[in-house]
Amino acid sequence: MPTAGGLVQAIANGSAIGCDVVQLFTANPRQWNAPPPDVELAQAFRRACAECGISHAVAHDSYLINLCAPDAAVLERSRQAFLAELRRAEALGLEWVVTHMGAHLGSGQEVAIPRLAQSITQLLEATAGMAVGIALETTAGQGTTLGATFEEIARVLDLCRNPPRLGVCLDTCHIFVAGYDIRTDEAYEGTLSAFHRTIGLERLRIIHANDAKKPLGSRVDRHEHLGRGWIGLDAFRRLVTDARLQTIPVLVETPEADTMHEVNVRILRQFARGEEAPMRVKVLLFGHFSAVYPDGLVVDVPPKSTAADVARYLEEQNARLQGLGRICRVAVNEEYAQPSAELKDGDTLAFIPPLSGG
Ligand SMILES: [Zn+2]
Repeated sequence: MPTAGGLVQAIANGSAIGCDVVQLFTANPRQWNAPPPDVELAQAFRRACAECGISHAVAHDSYLINLCAPDAAVLERSRQAFLAELRRAEALGLEWVVTHMGAHLGSGQEVAIPRLAQSITQLLEATAGMAVGIALETTAGQGTTLGATFEEIARVLDLCRNPPRLGVCLDTCHIFVAGYDIRTDEAYEGTLSAFHRTIGLERLRIIHANDAKKPLGSRVDRHEHLGRGWIGLDAFRRLVTDARLQTIPVLVETPEADTMHEVNVRILRQFARGEEAPMRVKVLLFGHFSAVYPDGLVVDVPPKSTAADVARYLEEQNARLQGLGRICRVAVNEEYAQPSAELKDGDTLAFIPPLSGG
């Protein structure tokens, strides 16, 4: 959840769109200097979580932190900043601080992985007695970042001797662009069993459910709305109906948080209930109909709906749209189409009456 209105507001906002788990930044993720935990804020935050029914809240660490940095000064600064992350998270009652595994920046994995393990071991020792843990996130493998293979994560866990406060966060976008397919039943099973064999599902603490703007194996980390990227909706249906993952919090980190988190969360909830996710279609009205919705409107309709179905739905919603399906020509994504044409999620559908000049 965005925290522009403050941490307490972020919890209320999350609850308002149907979340019962929330991830947030406890400080500006692009700055080094972060505030120490504030007792009053922490109390208000914990109260908000309880009142809003937020069962799990987690933090994501600052983007600047690199716990395997080859430069000694950057490494030390990163460790101090992460320690501050853990202290703030503990004060707020957050269960995990999710972190990317850092980038070796040319120094190579062979030195970076032990260095990362050393950072984590030190941090866990320095915060012994705290409840908050560190969750290592699978990464896209962009540039020299670590964590694009399950084996690398397993090595870090091994070097740290698998302490209980060290867990793993699986990001569907990241593993997909790193080369782990989840688009078919077989691919999903293969990827999940590879995770179990190397890391162990018992180490999985958090799932980030994001679609990917870039294809399988592209190693480019660009998140997309669920069902609108290269992964597709079926993978997310599998994920939230997988009995092995039922107790794992699932979070979305998709774009346009203020308007679209609600949509993406709703899709996951519908899948979890065994329902079909609706399609979202943008509708543009021309001629005299344009006076009813001058800016057009967005509608959620059942999967496989046709232009004619949407017309019928709109006529039911608004009496001034009577005749929409009977007299209008339709265009889908700016191409004329048959009213019987099946729509896809994200399509733009135009209704153009005769003589409108459409
Ligand atoms: Zn993520």
